[in-house]
Amino acid sequence: MTQWVYSFGGRSAEGEAGMKNLLGGKGANLAEMSSLGLPVPPGFTITTEVCNYYYDNAESYPADLREQAAAAVSRIGEITGKGFGDTENPLLVSVRSGARASMPGMMDTVLNLGLNDETVEALAKNSGDRRFAYDSYRRFIQMYSDVVLGVEHHNFEEILELYKEERSLTLDTDLGADDWEHIVAAFKVRVEEELGSSFPLDVNEQLWGAIGAVFGSWMNQRAITYRRLHEIPATWGTAVNVQAMVFGNMGEDSATGVAFTRNPSTGEKALYGEFLINAQGEDVVAGIRTPQDLTEAAREAAGSDKASLERAMPETFSEFVGICDQLENHYRDMQDLEFTVEQGKLWMLQTRSGKRTTKAALKIAVDMAAEGLITQDEAVLRIDAGALDQLLHPMIDPDAPRTIIANGLPASPGAAQGEIVFNSDDAERLKAEGRAVILVRVETSPEDIHGMHAAEGILTTRGGMTSHAAVVARGMGKPCVSGAGMLRINYAKGEMLAAGRIFKEGDIITVDGSTGQVLEGRVNMLQPELSGDFGQIMEWADSRRVLGVRANAETPLDARAAREFGAEGIGLSRTEHMFFDGDRITSVRQMILADDEAGRRKALDKLLPMQREDFIELFEIMAGLPVTIRLLDPPLHEFLPHDAEEIAEVAEGLGADVDKVTARVELLKELNPMLGHRGCRLGISYPEIYEMQAQAIFEAAAEAAKKTGQPVTPEVMIPLIATKAEFDLLKERIDAVADKVRADKGVEIEYQTGTMIELPRACLRAGEIAESAEFFSFGTNDLTQTAFGISRDDAASFLGTYVEKGLLEADPFISIDTGGVGELVSIGCERGRAVRPDIKLGICGEHGGDPASVRFCHEVGLTYVSCSPYRVPIARLAAAQAAIAGDAGSTD
Ligand code: PEP
Ligand code: MG
Repeated sequence: MTQWVYSFGGRSAEGEAGMKNLLGGKGANLAEMSSLGLPVPPGFTITTEVCNYYYDNAESYPADLREQAAAAVSRIGEITGKGFGDTENPLLVSVRSGARASMPGMMDTVLNLGLNDETVEALAKNSGDRRFAYDSYRRFIQMYSDVVLGVEHHNFEEILELYKEERSLTLDTDLGADDWEHIVAAFKVRVEEELGSSFPLDVNEQLWGAIGAVFGSWMNQRAITYRRLHEIPATWGTAVNVQAMVFGNMGEDSATGVAFTRNPSTGEKALYGEFLINAQGEDVVAGIRTPQDLTEAAREAAGSDKASLERAMPETFSEFVGICDQLENHYRDMQDLEFTVEQGKLWMLQTRSGKRTTKAALKIAVDMAAEGLITQDEAVLRIDAGALDQLLHPMIDPDAPRTIIANGLPASPGAAQGEIVFNSDDAERLKAEGRAVILVRVETSPEDIHGMHAAEGILTTRGGMTSHAAVVARGMGKPCVSGAGMLRINYAKGEMLAAGRIFKEGDIITVDGSTGQVLEGRVNMLQPELSGDFGQIMEWADSRRVLGVRANAETPLDARAAREFGAEGIGLSRTEHMFFDGDRITSVRQMILADDEAGRRKALDKLLPMQREDFIELFEIMAGLPVTIRLLDPPLHEFLPHDAEEIAEVAEGLGADVDKVTARVELLKELNPMLGHRGCRLGISYPEIYEMQAQAIFEAAAEAAKKTGQPVTPEVMIPLIATKAEFDLLKERIDAVADKVRADKGVEIEYQTGTMIELPRACLRAGEIAESAEFFSFGTNDLTQTAFGISRDDAASFLGTYVEKGLLEADPFISIDTGGVGELVSIGCERGRAVRPDIKLGICGEHGGDPASVRFCHEVGLTYVSCSPYRVPIARLAAAQAAIAGDAGSTD
């Protein structure tokens, strides 16, 4: 018989922390905490397998599920001394989702389940608080009707507001037991009007309704979007946790709160969090009341006059601190906790690894390694390499003049600027047009996920550091300022009042998520300091990685940034990018459009000194490090003159007739430039172009070596080779140029000639190509294009749909398709090495900075990866993680 239900509570459990796949994160950790002897309200978890069964079998359950659940409900009753539906001492439960990966707020929850007209009276009697009992009942009807029965929230809001208005009451706290009883009756009438049937009073019907709703919410739009953004497969399913209710709203000796064992923004080792006295858990997250600090130190730092938990409930606080230490040591990671105090008794409702900013992740990993809690390797593995990006974001220049228009909470670090938008659909639409936007909302909800994703930064006027906006933005690595209460937003007018001025949709603002400031207009940004914990993790990573890391760079600015980020050379210098500057483009156009060799040579003579200067600068900056220079590979259309003015300019330079030049432009236009006259094909048609470039490279190498005193060994790289014959023909020309420069300058010139491997044929024939080529660099952008037969330029319009529909796991232009393109790379490596065992093998497509692709590169044994300068740290870390994971795998 399959076990569908796992019980926990009463200091024991059937599950444990390692069973996340089956019990979801929440269920597995509740079980673990119970076994550790911590105060966990008893309950049970219905497994994720039931969720899959539910969707595979027309939303029905396995035959023996009800029986197993009924036994588990009885067990809760035994531990609590209460009975489900009992009219003397009723057991109330919460029903919550709990997937393998945390999906905060995406799925449904029902609280206070088990209340009906009879049990509410028993609750009133036993708690000695009728008001509390009826308030709980109306909360239950409201939540259950909304989540399970589909009667929308506003129905109940209306009734409540009208009731208060008629009696001149303002706050919910002004309402007494009789008021709530009256409202409960009105709520039930409204449900019946809406549904044509009455609110279910049978507790088992309530329970199965709620379980069905939680499973159903796995497929709601919010959850689907969240899974897509976080690459969570639908097949994981959610578990359902049914747990005895504990109440944080039973008076002044009750409370509820959330806590992190270390600061999730900075990583500082200090308990961090918020709580509310006399409130239910959802109230803290919703930010309805301003929460209080947990510790005295935090209260003082915030200058708050509201008592801390440490002061208000000293005994509970010290018990809680002990539990925090115990859990952090047990899990060996920073924990994110939820707790409730019911009439002085502490209950733990959740523990999980806390989400944190990258800055905090680095500090926590370095500190925990120093504390001996984890090893250096574990510290390196703890950092999400892709998320390092967050740290590499620009910050506001402290010396820049700034006009502050509002202050809020520093909810997620980094700074961002863009146009104001007031709703998530607009944010997504403008982002698609390539515009940078700041999403400005009173508060965000799970419905705003797509807008938050599209925005550069987020600004809210309401909500604390654990509000939805703050938690989600930190997870996404987006700068966020929350709770900027002095701002007034008018959605209808599309404007915001700040510092006495009106800001409209489209106006530019800057948000500084590190300080909580909101600034007018654009402000000068600076790159962050890359030392401290970042430097330490990078040092540990560098000591473990096997792969080399180079950068793709052609400008001096990029080359300098690359060195700062730790690049060990240049793996790709795209020379065509050097041809767009200033008057160069005109010479380049003259060269392309000249109709004979003499015309081309004339234009090339003008380009030669400029190219030589470019290379001298690159060699100087990269002194002592390898530099791979790729000969011209222009998709021709990028260089052709676009309009009459540009054509006239070229014609004048060439001393040619405008009509003749216009005709030649027409002739050179291609139907499919990506697969056309580019790469080595151009070098074969017009050898003098590559000769000029080779001459510039060799002369620059001689010059730079003289200047820096360091030998320069340039790597000359030929693009888009399909056959050995193409390569041989061009290599012969390059060698001849080298001989000539040697003779002319009287210097020794060391260089290597290699090729991009970026066509499937080149992978297959890599053996014979390696007979001539001294190195390979896999150009996985073109290799992906040609392996899939998907144009790089046109992919965007349909690839997204492929990923959404699950036809592809990820966009293959972002993360390498290991099964297909990867197989071609493996073949290329194998066949190349078979002929030239010490051949240098690199990769320089966009994949070089993608952590999953870097892992693949490590596994096939490449020599190095090359990526854009800003992704160099990501590649260094990902390479170390691949090496550590590989070692662990080989000793298993
Ligand atoms: C490639 O094709 O992967 C590559 C690096 O070259 P480019 O992107 O310039 O075509
Ligand atoms: Mg290419």
